[in-house]
Amino acid sequence: MDKSLLLGELAKKIDDCKRCSLWEGTNSAVPGEGDSDSQVLFVGEGPGFHEDKIGRPFVGQAGKLLDKLLMLIGLSRKEVFITNVIKHRPPENRDPLPSEIAACRYWLDQQLEIIKPKIIVTLGRYSLARFLLNVKISEVHGQPVKVKHQVVVPMYHPAAALRNGVIMDRLKEDFQRNAKILKDTSKISEIDELKGTEGDPNQISFFSSD
Ligand code: URA
Repeated sequence: MDKSLLLGELAKKIDDCKRCSLWEGTNSAVPGEGDSDSQVLFVGEGPGFHEDKIGRPFVGQAGKLLDKLLMLIGLSRKEVFITNVIKHRPPENRDPLPSEIAACRYWLDQQLEIIKPKIIVTLGRYSLARFLLNVKISEVHGQPVKVKHQVVVPMYHPAAALRNGVIMDRLKEDFQRNAKILKDTSKISEIDELKGTEGDPNQISFFSSD
C-alpha cells in the first residue's frame, strides 16, 4: 500500500486514540500532514489552540514562522512531513507529561516506520529528547547527528524563537546552515560535522532512545 494511504489509515486511528486522557476536552487529534514520500520529517511538541481547532499541525503563530523558515531555504510545508510528539492538545498548552509522551510514542513510531525519513528535524526539547538522550538543545542545535540510519537535526522550537530574539537568530541560522541537506538529502554525506553514533563509546550521549 502506498505511504499516503497507510498514513491516512493511521490518522483515523489517531483520531480515535484514548491511550491517555489527553483526548478529553479536545476538538480534534492532530496526526500530522505533508508529503508522505518526503525524506524530511519535522517533529514538534504538540498541538496548541489553533491546531486543536482544525486538526492540522503548526497553523498558529509558530506555524506561520515555520512556513517562513521553510520559505527562507526554498521549501514549502507541502514538500516535507510535519507532525508532533503528542497528537492531542494538552490542557492550556501545558507541557506534556512523561506518561503522555510514552503513550503517544506508539503513533510517532508508526509514522516513522511508514515514512522512513532520511532526516528528522526536531523542533524543541521534547522532540529532541525523543531522538537524542542527555543533550541540551543549546549545545546541539543546528548540528546534524547520525542516529542509526537516519540523521537528526536538532532545532529550537519556533514558539521559543517568537519569545526570544536571540533564539530567532539561531533558528534562522540553523535552517540556512542545513538548507543543503534539507533540500537534497543525498547531500548528507557532504556534511563535515555529521557525527557517527553507532559503536562509538565517546558518543554515548548521542545514542537514540530506542
Ligand atoms: N507547536 C507544536 O509543537 N506543534 C504544533 O503543531 C503547533 C505548535
